[in-house]
Amino acid sequence: MSERKTLVPKTDNPPAKARDSGIINLVKAGKAAYNAKNGELLFLPEGELALRGVKTTLGAALEAEGFQKVDCASDDAIFSVAERFAREWDEAARAFCEERGRELRIISWDSDAGASFARAERAMKSIVSELGESAFTFVEDVTPNAARTFVLAARCEAGDTGARAGFFCESCGSLRFPDSPFDYTPRQPGADEPEGVLEDVETPGANTIAELCSQLSIDVPRTLKAMLYVASDGDSKCRAVASFVRGDYNLSMNKLAGWLERERGLTGLRSADKAELHELVGEVAGYCGPVGMPPRVVMVGDLSLVGSKNTVVGANHPGYHKKCCCHPRDFDPPIADIAQAASGTPCSCGGIYKACCARELGRLAIADLSKAENGKVKKLSYRDRVCAHDFPFLLDGTVSAERITMARHADAP
Ligand SMILES: [Zn+2]
Repeated sequence: MSERKTLVPKTDNPPAKARDSGIINLVKAGKAAYNAKNGELLFLPEGELALRGVKTTLGAALEAEGFQKVDCASDDAIFSVAERFAREWDEAARAFCEERGRELRIISWDSDAGASFARAERAMKSIVSELGESAFTFVEDVTPNAARTFVLAARCEAGDTGARAGFFCESCGSLRFPDSPFDYTPRQPGADEPEGVLEDVETPGANTIAELCSQLSIDVPRTLKAMLYVASDGDSKCRAVASFVRGDYNLSMNKLAGWLERERGLTGLRSADKAELHELVGEVAGYCGPVGMPPRVVMVGDLSLVGSKNTVVGANHPGYHKKCCCHPRDFDPPIADIAQAASGTPCSCGGIYKACCARELGRLAIADLSKAENGKVKKLSYRDRVCAHDFPFLLDGTVSAERITMARHADAP
């Protein structure tokens, strides 16, 4: 009788075409095979055990926060369970998690935003704590059509499966994505200078920041970037939107879109074509600035402009800029967090954010379905003898046990 053996084909040879150190290490340890043709990871007995362990841990982490473990096989089926039992079971029939292949599906319904946010945070904290990996963290992100988004992430190398651009603070270990919410106002160059006199200066052909800096011999933080867009109001009328960030920052379209929807009821943010721009703000292409914008233009400035002093801004007149522009003396638009994080951005701990890559391991997004159905999961509501009960805040997400297993086997970046 032959001896029974477990298939653990350890090897010193990395799999062909695999770049992810997590995949390479899983294959070398005989825990998985790699299909270079379609990039699929084939878990062998020891890898399957690791994967199953992650799924069990995730399920336990969510169960501890009140998510009911079910096997309903579809979002529609989970919705029908909630609909059937929510009246009698309330909270216990509004939060679910389910294993689907190599992922955990998470769905819950709440009556208000605060309860939904709190539930998402508790779920993420519990997952991070139960997984027990110091490299795993959850990061808030800003994404279209979501009131809030939380991403489970771990630092990684570029080219790893699920890698995204991010920023990392070595002092405190905090991780961010470019669109993560931000509450820091940078120190302004020339903060101690007296405010100069606002005046027009001729800058022929200076319709890029680089050319402007070279013509006037100034540094990029002394400039202001203006970007014009259009968005629709409730009556589907086009409104021009002028957004301003300091010259060394980049605008986050996701943050700007979120602000416009929340604060001005404007949706469908998009770039404007030349003819539209001309009609809405006049002939300002390349020379748009915050001083003297037509009043019908919706203006919003980034946190990076607060207290900016003696900067150069577009004069809203081709071939001209304005020198010695000061906030709030010369322009005072509503201020919001609309810029992307950048390398060199200070962290609240006193450290500095540096560019890194982070692997997305899962995400939870909260949508307000009273405004718009997201097309996937329906809004939960029911009537009892007294009144109607609405649960329009949908927490909806997945966490990938496969990505977590890869991340656990990856080399530290
Ligand atoms: Zn820090």
